[in-house]
Amino acid sequence: MAPNAFAGAELSIDLGAITANWRALGARLEGGARAGAVVKADAYGLGMAAVAPALHDAGCGDFFTATLDEGIALRALLAARPAGEASRIYVFLGPRPGEAAEYRRHRLSPMLNDLGQIETWRAEPGRGAAQSAVLHIDTGMSRLGLPPAEVARLAAEPERLAGLDIDFLMSHMACAEAPEHPMNQAQLSEFKAALGPLGGVAATPRASLANSSAIFLGGQYHFDLARPGAALYGLNPTPGKANPMAETVRLQAEILQVREIDSPRSIGYGATHRVKRPSRIATVPVGYADGYLRSASNRASVHIAGLPAPLVGRVSMDMITLDVTDIPAQHAQPGAPVDLIGGGHPVDALAAEAGTIGYEILTSLGMRYRRRYIQNGSERQGTT
Ligand SMILES: *Cc1c(COP(=O)(O)O)cnc(C)c1O
Repeated sequence: MAPNAFAGAELSIDLGAITANWRALGARLEGGARAGAVVKADAYGLGMAAVAPALHDAGCGDFFTATLDEGIALRALLAARPAGEASRIYVFLGPRPGEAAEYRRHRLSPMLNDLGQIETWRAEPGRGAAQSAVLHIDTGMSRLGLPPAEVARLAAEPERLAGLDIDFLMSHMACAEAPEHPMNQAQLSEFKAALGPLGGVAATPRASLANSSAIFLGGQYHFDLARPGAALYGLNPTPGKANPMAETVRLQAEILQVREIDSPRSIGYGATHRVKRPSRIATVPVGYADGYLRSASNRASVHIAGLPAPLVGRVSMDMITLDVTDIPAQHAQPGAPVDLIGGGHPVDALAAEAGTIGYEILTSLGMRYRRRYIQNGSERQGTT
């Protein structure tokens, strides 16, 4: 039996749209830069086991995960594809002591995020010592990456990198979705300033700076390799402007029950919504346990037959309630489909209603939906 065969909600993921988005981003890059693909956090919740092979088959050769475990799983997935062994896999969090051998065993390239990780990577050569690594320079996130003092130290003590194959130097943008933000230019300048001294030390002139939004800041941010995640999955990399990316996700649920309420009465936990007129309230079997965030309570909307309907009351663990009074009755019956994401209500719109960003909506998508992967018209169901 297919997983979640009796689920009252179905998540459709359009692999063709994801690969089309990857191609569209690549076509925007200037100066010979390539587009990689960030598939961390199970490809932003959409299922790395389906998404990564599709991107590989579309020609993507550079993948990024956050964790070592994700990298190991991805190497196994790609190894099963024709020419998949040749794909490069980069791991953002980098090696903790004792992990370098695992990186090399699975041919994963770590980000080296501070002098300590450089030391770990050098001190544990193990088998396959020639495995490349990436030098991460912090230009404004103050999270991971070599801060300016460590960049200076490394430039002065190049022997710290002796024997290492540094594939490229990278940094990460803090405010790229806000094109006017002064951080963008400041980070670009600081990155370029570090590339000079370190470029020689690392014996590579190659560099990577852009996430999804930074691709849209212009060619000077593109360098050799871009690292888009969100835009691949259809989130708008240019907030406030029309979304240039194709939608990739649709979440549809079936109405379980419709209730006629003709006297003043409250709805849901905390009695946070009271009906003020004779109303029809539809119950849909999706709740915060499915990643439909509780912060959407009394704020989100859905689409039914293309018409908006408000979510009323609190989001429960397994259910939400909708005011369908203004929806023609034939469309708001038990069994009728409701668009929670897509179908006129994009991920970014739901995110705004829930007071968050599309990234959190996608990476919260739960495991109880029936999943349907669409590729060039053909479909398959899966748990990934
Ligand atoms: C997550 C991540 C990305 C991708 O960012 P998007 O905004 O999703 O395109 C790129 N680089 C690093 C270092 C990341 O952590």
